[in-house]
Amino acid sequence: MNEKQKGGISVNTENIFPVIKKWLYSEKDIFLREIVSNATDAITKLKRLSSLGQYSADETPYRIDVRLDKDAKTLTVEDNGIGMTEEELKKYICSIALSGAVDFLQKYEGEGESSKNGIIGHFGLGFYSAFMVSDTVEIHTKSYTDAPAVHWTCSADGDYEIEADDKSSRGTEVILHISDDEAAYLESGKIREMLHKYCAFMPVEIYFDDGSEKKEDESEQPINDTTPLWQKVPSECTDENYKDFYHKVFADFREPLFQIHINADYPLNFKGILYFPRINNSYESIEGQVKLYYNQVFVADNIKEVIPEYLLMLKGVLDCPELPLNVSRSYLQTNSYVAKVSAHIVKKVADKLVSMYREDRAQYEKVWDDIKTFVEYACMRDEKFWNRTKDVILLKLTDGTHLNINDYLESAKEKHENTVYYTTDPSLQAQYIAMYEAQGIRVVEFDHMLDTQFAAMAESRISGAKFVRVDADVASVLKGDGTATESKALRDLLCKVSGNEKLNVVFESLKDADIPMILNVSEESRRMEDMMRMYRMTGGEGEMPAFPTDTTLIVNTASPLIAQIGDMLNADSQKAESLAAYLYRLSVLSQRRFSAEEMQSFLKDSYRILFELSK
Ligand code: ADP
Repeated sequence: MNEKQKGGISVNTENIFPVIKKWLYSEKDIFLREIVSNATDAITKLKRLSSLGQYSADETPYRIDVRLDKDAKTLTVEDNGIGMTEEELKKYICSIALSGAVDFLQKYEGEGESSKNGIIGHFGLGFYSAFMVSDTVEIHTKSYTDAPAVHWTCSADGDYEIEADDKSSRGTEVILHISDDEAAYLESGKIREMLHKYCAFMPVEIYFDDGSEKKEDESEQPINDTTPLWQKVPSECTDENYKDFYHKVFADFREPLFQIHINADYPLNFKGILYFPRINNSYESIEGQVKLYYNQVFVADNIKEVIPEYLLMLKGVLDCPELPLNVSRSYLQTNSYVAKVSAHIVKKVADKLVSMYREDRAQYEKVWDDIKTFVEYACMRDEKFWNRTKDVILLKLTDGTHLNINDYLESAKEKHENTVYYTTDPSLQAQYIAMYEAQGIRVVEFDHMLDTQFAAMAESRISGAKFVRVDADVASVLKGDGTATESKALRDLLCKVSGNEKLNVVFESLKDADIPMILNVSEESRRMEDMMRMYRMTGGEGEMPAFPTDTTLIVNTASPLIAQIGDMLNADSQKAESLAAYLYRLSVLSQRRFSAEEMQSFLKDSYRILFELSK
């Protein structure tokens, strides 16, 4: 080829370049991934030819060089892969690739703004995404065959020139002349960050030369890890390997709790590592990060079509080489392969929990507090996950030990069949807990907002089971053998001192004579109130409806104090009233927190009583 050949990239739509330029404005960074992954493909192809004996490779190691030249305003990606002949260049770059891009744009442009965000990982523009940031793109390429090298130059309006080139080494060099309004792509920090995000695990060594002077003793290091941990056989990976990989990928200095290495064979054919991260406290929002890769090329974070949303509380990497990536979310949502991948991941996570429970119960209990919220949430979102894990869901008892739900119910069979008693605040509800424990009833500790919602879900899935808070079933649990005599005078007095004319007062002879009165709040009405409170906390509109809390004051006729008030009612009604008021407030204090007003008046009364005592 002696003369320059000129051409215009002819496509069957209006000029495509302006479209490319504005396309995916916010995702421009991906151009580098496209160019570098083309370079990787070119090397992979040559390696394959060499392994098939169709090409005998020289000793030069395969590599990709990314070079930044701020003065020349260029960013160059060079590989020593398969290269292209003139014919191939015309075929792949000038027509096929472009028509691929045209198809792609036509398919998604017409669908409006929403589809732009819906395209997973923004794959598909390939080589032409270079024009999102460049005025002119040059290619110097020499095929692995003996064909002469070619030089292709294309401006952003689509006109190109092809001429003979003097490139002597095999491979392709793509030079992007960065346009003035994209000068950010001439900053080495920016390029380094993009390489780190998209190319950190690409399978060919990538070297970055940012144009600065090299120190003499500086050895050349690739920016990527060509054999990421997920590609290795799980049996060959140590715990240390997993931890190092976690720290590196997620920049999280904490140790993960444990991990699941998935190595799914044909037909699913995908790999990945999912970590259970450590959670510092129950208030920390749990936001994981699952990175999706396509043959070691980063695609996007947290694609909930591939991994169920509730698993996004985990941190991890997934590499799905079978995924058709240049597709929209709606396509993935109805794709049966994607559904199978997602189901397989769910199964693996559930299996891991079950095997940990069976094989190392002590360790499982140790991490339970950290994984509980995740497991409960997952069970609530997905009945299949619940079905797989229901036997390994632990209840933490107030004494610090754990039981699974079945074992708890089994052990409760004699005393309180089908009922799980729980506390949401062991110090506030200490009085109740102590009374239950004195009856040999084990109390479960709920320490996260999600626990009660989880309990409601579990009730609907375990036939007959009920979760009842310790202050919601006092009479039936603590009733003694004695008969209780009612006192109308005391009932009236309690209505008066409580300031609630309608206070529901019942007389019972309880097992524990030390406790004069205790409040019982029905489980149902409290749950309803909790729900309303949550609704309002999350910005729900409107007044909280005046749902009457179903509260009962149980007066323990077995208590000597109650007997004394009874006697006092006739002799010194003033004293009886003070005593009743004080006892009533003690029962409130052991059920819920005082309001500021209640607290003040309670303290004032206490001081007064103590003063009397001190006389
Ligand atoms: P895709 O990579 O999806 O096929 P591209 O537009 O990125 O689409 O590239 C079109 C074609 O151009 C590639 O399939 C390949 O044949 C050729 N090509 C691109 N870059 C290179 C390269 N660095 N070396 C060899 N061939 C390349």
